[in-house]
Amino acid sequence: MAGRDGDSHEGDEDRDRVSRAGFTLGLRRHGIRDLRVLSAMEQVPRKLFLPAHLHADAYTDRALPIECGQTISQPSLVAMMTEALGVQPGDRVLEVGTGSGYQAAVLSKLAREVYTIERFRSLLSLAEERFAALRLSNIMTKLDDGALGWPEKAPFDRIVVTAAAAELPEALVAQLKIGGVMVVPVGPAGSVQTLLKIVRTPEGYTPAALAEVRFVPMVAGVASRL
Ligand code: SAH
Repeated sequence: MAGRDGDSHEGDEDRDRVSRAGFTLGLRRHGIRDLRVLSAMEQVPRKLFLPAHLHADAYTDRALPIECGQTISQPSLVAMMTEALGVQPGDRVLEVGTGSGYQAAVLSKLAREVYTIERFRSLLSLAEERFAALRLSNIMTKLDDGALGWPEKAPFDRIVVTAAAAELPEALVAQLKIGGVMVVPVGPAGSVQTLLKIVRTPEGYTPAALAEVRFVPMVAGVASRL
C-alpha cells in the first residue's frame, strides 16, 4: 500500500493529468483535429520540460523561456506543426533544435524513431535526462549544427525545424525521402517568419505557407559555451 509520500506524489501526478486533459481541450478549440496528435500531447507532461519556476504555466498556451536564452514553443504551435507533418507510425523523423526536448517527446509517441539535433550541450543533456525519465527510448540525440542534418541516418520521412532559418535549408530538403514532408519556419531573425510545409518530389519540392510565426533564429555551428 502506498505510504503518505506515495499518496502526495500520486496526487501531483493526478493533478498534472487533469491539467493535461484541459490542455488538449484547448488544443481542439485551436482547430487541432488529429486524434493521434491530441493523444500524444496529452501523454507528454510539458511541465517536465520547463524550469521549476515555470511549472504553474506549463499548460497555458504560451511560449516560455528555457535555458540558454531559448524558448519552448507555444503548445498550439507544436500541435499545428505536428499535425502538418502527418507523422505515420513507421516513420523516422528528424528534428532540428531539440531545445527542451518537448517537441521530440511528442513526436516520439507518433513515430518509429526520432533523431534530434541541438547546438547547446547543456540543453541537450537536460533533454536527454527527460527522455530517460519518461522512458522514451526511440529518441536519438546529437550535438551538432542541425543545418547539416544527420546524413548517416538520412533519408527521413519527416523533418521538423524548430528554429527560424534565413533561407530554406537545402541540405535538409536533400535528406527528405521523395514524398516526405518538412515543416520549417523561414524568414529573418527577430521578426515574423513564414512557417512552410515542404513536400519532396522527384524533381525538387513543393512549398506551402502554413502560418506567420516567431521562432528563435537558427545559428550556425555548435555553441562554444553552455
Ligand atoms: N523544439 C524545441 C524548441 C526549441 S527553440 C522545444 O520543443 O523545446 C529552438 C532550438 O533550436 C534552440 O534550443 C536552439 O539552440 C536550437 N538551434 C538553433 N540553431 C540550431 C542549429 N543550427 N542546430 C541545432 N540546433 C539549433
